[in-house]
Amino acid sequence: MTVIEKINRAKRPLFTFELLPPLKGHSIERVYRTIESLLEFEPAYINFTSHRNEVQYIESPDGTLEKRFSRVRPGTIALSAAVKYKYNITVVPHLLCGGFTREETENALIEMNFLGIEDVFALRGDPPKGSRSFIPERGGNENAKALVEQISATGRGEYINGHVDSSSPSKFCIGVAGYPEKHFEAPNMEIDLLNLKSKVDAGAHYIATQMFFDNAAFFRFRDNCRKIGIDVPIIPGIKPISALNDIRLLPQTFHIDLPADLYNAVAKCKTDEEAREVGIEWTTMQTKELIKEGVPGIHYYTLGRSDNVARIVKASF
Ligand code: FAD
Repeated sequence: MTVIEKINRAKRPLFTFELLPPLKGHSIERVYRTIESLLEFEPAYINFTSHRNEVQYIESPDGTLEKRFSRVRPGTIALSAAVKYKYNITVVPHLLCGGFTREETENALIEMNFLGIEDVFALRGDPPKGSRSFIPERGGNENAKALVEQISATGRGEYINGHVDSSSPSKFCIGVAGYPEKHFEAPNMEIDLLNLKSKVDAGAHYIATQMFFDNAAFFRFRDNCRKIGIDVPIIPGIKPISALNDIRLLPQTFHIDLPADLYNAVAKCKTDEEAREVGIEWTTMQTKELIKEGVPGIHYYTLGRSDNVARIVKASF
């Protein structure tokens, strides 16, 4: 069943989470362990992030540095398929514009179709590290809307080199990203929302949001989406604070605000364990309120750690 089918049939809010593929050369077992620790809460689906190639500088024996491009976390599609068949669960691989040509994207969609994967999360991707602006690959999609258009066209049998009357069209349920506190590059919220609407108009079936720590920001965002005619389901994405450093790193990395109460509570902590406890308490409070307000599901950013998410879900769903 696809994500949108699950949302439409659900009698209670869905519990879902996101995982990263292992670092290159590392085992899939850690991913399995994380999934198994959350299976008892019946996740509706699992997202797998995608990571573009990054520049790495490798030191040669003579001390010179060689510049190499490499993907540090490859394998999103294969990992998704392995999990789908091991646990009989819906999986949602992320597909990026950044670092991929349209041809490579088309091939990825064909592979996913052969593997029986019916869901995809369409993203532009961030600018590469050290670069201020996003530049698409030559022959690649320039933003998530263009990627959604390509995925939708492929589902109608419209491939890059022409139409194919297909007995097995690569039709996908498509998710896209929304930003309750605005995407950092958008000049204002209004324009960001119109861009979001253009992704939905291009064929996206639902929206999952960037993490936020103040539910009021999500409710405002949801109301503003409805006002401009975005009528697809909107799944809030949340993350428990799990280390002292998060109060510095999360706003920097994800361009989000931390409410003063949360910031002050973590700032008073002496250890990561204490900060994790504050994070669990805060995210449990967020979860309970979101469920009360009738969200279709809640998506947790685990970043590979599951014990805190397990405690939150146990206490709130
Ligand atoms: P877009 O929707 O293309 O928007 C990017 C910017 O361009 C926005 O400011 C938007 O307002 C603007 N824009 C869009 N269309 C137009 C237009 N037609 N004209 C002018 N401006 C326009 N990153 C990864 O690398 N891998 C992942 O797996 C990953 N997963 C994510 C999951 C979620 C739920 C979220 C919220 C983010 C994720 N990201 C991931 C991060 C994401 O790639 C970045 O936030 C990226 O900067 C924007 O991606 P997007 O798909 O939202 O871009």
